Amino acid sequence: MMAPGELMMDPLAERSAFQAQRPIPGPKRDWAQALPSRTALTLLGLTLFSCTDQSNSPLSETSEPFVMVLGTAQDGGLPQIACSKPCCQRVRQDRAAARMVTSLMVADPGSGQRWLLDAGPDLPRQVQLADRAAPRSPGPGRPPLFDGIFLTHAHMGHILGLLHLGRESYGAESQRVICTPSVARFLREEAPWSLLVDANHIVIEELQPGKVIQLNERLKAELIQVPHRGEFTDTVGIRIQGQNGSLLYLPDIDKWSRWERDLKEELAQVELAFLDATFYGDGELPGRPMSAVPHPFVVETLQELEAVAPSERAKVRLIHLNHTNPLHDPGAPEQAQVQSAGIGLAIQGQCLTLDGRPLD
Ligand SMILES: [Zn+2]
Ligand SMILES: [Zn+2]
Ligand SMILES: [Zn+2]
Repeated sequence: MMAPGELMMDPLAERSAFQAQRPIPGPKRDWAQALPSRTALTLLGLTLFSCTDQSNSPLSETSEPFVMVLGTAQDGGLPQIACSKPCCQRVRQDRAAARMVTSLMVADPGSGQRWLLDAGPDLPRQVQLADRAAPRSPGPGRPPLFDGIFLTHAHMGHILGLLHLGRESYGAESQRVICTPSVARFLREEAPWSLLVDANHIVIEELQPGKVIQLNERLKAELIQVPHRGEFTDTVGIRIQGQNGSLLYLPDIDKWSRWERDLKEELAQVELAFLDATFYGDGELPGRPMSAVPHPFVVETLQELEAVAPSERAKVRLIHLNHTNPLHDPGAPEQAQVQSAGIGLAIQGQCLTLDGRPLD
């Protein structure tokens, strides 16, 4: 429990100093010991491929930072509420085909630290999944669930999970949340998010896009501004840089042509790129103008990357798939089309080193 008076401290300054000077607190957590069996994962409803499926998982041998895919669906998830079309009926009959909302965990076995990229509505089950690969140390009280939660923007699929940190649920003590000043203002000023801030369940650290911060001795992070429907806040992608590799996480962006940066140049700077693949192509939302929800169609991304070296395309992991996206269906011809272009799909439960090596 927090002693009276501690609330008066500047938690931002305290945590920043902690991050900068003492990046590896306490004994390293032995994550290999905590690997679950396949049966345990099935009982949790966390079937699908998972880097924690095997008792001899390479995680027991690696001390390298890695990323775990906690979800791959667009904000509404798969199946989506009230959808009676084949895209979701198929999944209601085969629950193993369900997908949680897009989110990643970056974990560093060397320090026992872990960070979350976006906190969507599936956060409770995603914490369970994260715990399988990178368990948090049990602490007294309600310690932060992650060493930091990065937010890309304030649409539902990216912030709803924060509500689980409030007093109706986990009641976190000073969970560090890293976001742009625009997202920070929204969380501080708008209910119900403001309650999380006022009650110190979350502690917001503003980060200007373009400014690099050190997460620990081995990892750096940077927010990258992108164009995306800005009803409430601006939107960023997130770059995580390690010593052996870097990743780009870009779940929501308008068309590539509206970005001041060049996708190919950004791809050249990383080893892994989780890119917005909300819709496969035009006409996917019958009766609804798709210009109202602009995203790069997968077919446009394939076109954009047509001329780059195959090794560049191999860095891509498509993510943030709308329930209508045929790429959710392993039997769909579109999967073969993406595969033949040498482009990958993000796989829920998969862990990869930052240089793109799957840990399975
Ligand atoms: Zn989204
Ligand atoms: Zn559907
Ligand atoms: Zn969005």
